[in-house]
Amino acid sequence: MQSELYQGIVDSVVRGEARGSEVGKRIVLLASFIGGPRDMRRRYLDAITLVRTFGQLPQDRPDLTSRVFRAKLQDLKDQIIKKRIFGPVAAYVYVVEFQKQGLSHVHMLVILQNDYKINCVDMFDGFVSAEIPNKDSHPRLFGLVIKHMMHGPCGTLNRNNSCMIGGRCKSHYPRQFSEYYVQGLDGYPIYQRRDDSRTINVQNAELSSQWVVHYNPYLLYRYDCHINVETLVDEIKEFQDARWVSAQESMWRIYEFDLNEMSPAGKIWIERKQRKVIGRVNAASPVEGERYYLRLLLLHVRGPSSFNYLLTFNNQIYFTFKEASQSRGLLECDRRNFECLNEATTFQMPYALRRLFATILTYCEPANVQNLWDSFYKHFSEDFTRHETNDDLDVLFETLHSFDFFL
Ligand SMILES: [Zn+2]
Repeated sequence: MQSELYQGIVDSVVRGEARGSEVGKRIVLLASFIGGPRDMRRRYLDAITLVRTFGQLPQDRPDLTSRVFRAKLQDLKDQIIKKRIFGPVAAYVYVVEFQKQGLSHVHMLVILQNDYKINCVDMFDGFVSAEIPNKDSHPRLFGLVIKHMMHGPCGTLNRNNSCMIGGRCKSHYPRQFSEYYVQGLDGYPIYQRRDDSRTINVQNAELSSQWVVHYNPYLLYRYDCHINVETLVDEIKEFQDARWVSAQESMWRIYEFDLNEMSPAGKIWIERKQRKVIGRVNAASPVEGERYYLRLLLLHVRGPSSFNYLLTFNNQIYFTFKEASQSRGLLECDRRNFECLNEATTFQMPYALRRLFATILTYCEPANVQNLWDSFYKHFSEDFTRHETNDDLDVLFETLHSFDFFL
């Protein structure tokens, strides 16, 4: 604010002018005014440009997606098992699947206690919906169904959609309209899907309720992601089958949150890309036991589809990831230790590398310590070589001495 303008305000106040709009002269805040509207808008645009430039997809950020996924899964279990949103649970089972490309998802089967089984038509309607909601009475639900629960378009509208096999949609869309819930012959119910002429435009196609994937309104609200809920009936038992896929939207929110917090956006983002890698490796110290071996398997087993897949080798299922790693020959100690250290050298500080080497010495029983030492000594001692007065022997002593902290 310039002094003559300030003087203008003083003059106004002296004149008895108290209304802000009549005082002084309008000033537009510069974009350099941190936190001002122009600054915020610029940061928003920077953020969007960065995401576009780097072209990151959720699957490029497993560090983030896995955490969001886990949080949502924990909450889903909590809702179904502890809070009993479908009724008291007699048994449940779920399988988490990691896709090679795309997002992880979970298949969950919930069997309700006898007295609470879903066995009348009205109950089905309360649990599962397969219609486009009323836009006026339920605008948010309407938006969520558009965002997450519309299948396709496929079939005659788009013959190249990924669900098309042999000219037909493998998920049987578009489904038939039905005034009421009907028990299908194959055990799969036909849900109420009334023809109310509501349509939603998806990829330039007008889609009716025939294209809605079954959802539970409460869960859709709660998780804001694709969550397919179905009831299934056979002669013996009735159960709930929920399939859940975490959404890109959760990733977007995290990106934006981080970019705003770590402003200015541009340079910091690139640094964060590097930092992310450190985070991944920190999580893979052998001292962490099963978690370490799980990561080992994930690194070496191609196209894993489930935990059981990772635990299975040559048709035998192992009880621990360590045993499974052993059966696959992944624990040939020195090669593993070498890889572990080698990977860490690309982004770990010497101090962290020494700690890792100490961990390996303590827990991994390397056969050829000398070889590891020789291979990575340069990295272990790097910070001590920076002192110009240190000769080679000083560096060696300081490096060796520093291991006292860990061993
Ligand atoms: Zn389809």
